[in-house]
Amino acid sequence: MSTVPPKLAEVRARLERACLRAHRDPAEVQLIAVTKGHDVAEIQGNVLAHGHTQLGESRIQEWRSKGELAGVEWHLIGSLQTNKVKYCTGFHTLHSLNSERLADALEAFGEKKGHTFRVLLEVDVAGETNKQGVSLPDAGPLARYASTLPHVDLVGVMTIAPYAENPEAARPTFRALRNLRDKLGLAELSMGMSGDFEVAAEEGATYVRVGSALF
Ligand SMILES: *Cc1c(COP(=O)(O)O)cnc(C)c1O
Repeated sequence: MSTVPPKLAEVRARLERACLRAHRDPAEVQLIAVTKGHDVAEIQGNVLAHGHTQLGESRIQEWRSKGELAGVEWHLIGSLQTNKVKYCTGFHTLHSLNSERLADALEAFGEKKGHTFRVLLEVDVAGETNKQGVSLPDAGPLARYASTLPHVDLVGVMTIAPYAENPEAARPTFRALRNLRDKLGLAELSMGMSGDFEVAAEEGATYVRVGSALF
């Protein structure tokens, strides 16, 4: 294995320092390298060649063009339409369950194929109308609904914090998501991107989704 490229090494080091500040074991936080907009050669060179195999994509279409990459644990982090569910059995985890309709589509396809989807509930914590997630008040009912579906394994919650220059601005959003996760009794907390992943790690993230800082 060649030398870890400086960007991956730096993100790993920043993540580790954030965990230590919060008295967390760095092994509790998984780094998802978000590869949208980057081709197979870049992904190989910047990430996979250095033993990092957890990758995230936003769009099914783009992900399908990267199917040749072997040994990858893929995460779907972007919104999912019901008519694309049929492509999703190759994902380790879907981070964007946001409606009963989508849960029903996953259940129906999962039943047909004998596949159980591992999913996170996407929550629009800050109540931004342009976001895809379910609102905070609707999250509990949707989580309870999903937990009745045998082919949908709901393991956690995910959010995208509102864009801000100062990463500290995301802290209340991350805290609210963690509280929701605890209330629902789930394990996984997917939060934090290039601009705010250290704050997310301090606030308990179990997955951070980092793209531009790695490429
Ligand atoms: C693009 C994307 C990311 C990564 O964003 P960066 O700012 O490039 O790190 C994380 N999560 C989601 C849902 C995304 O769409």
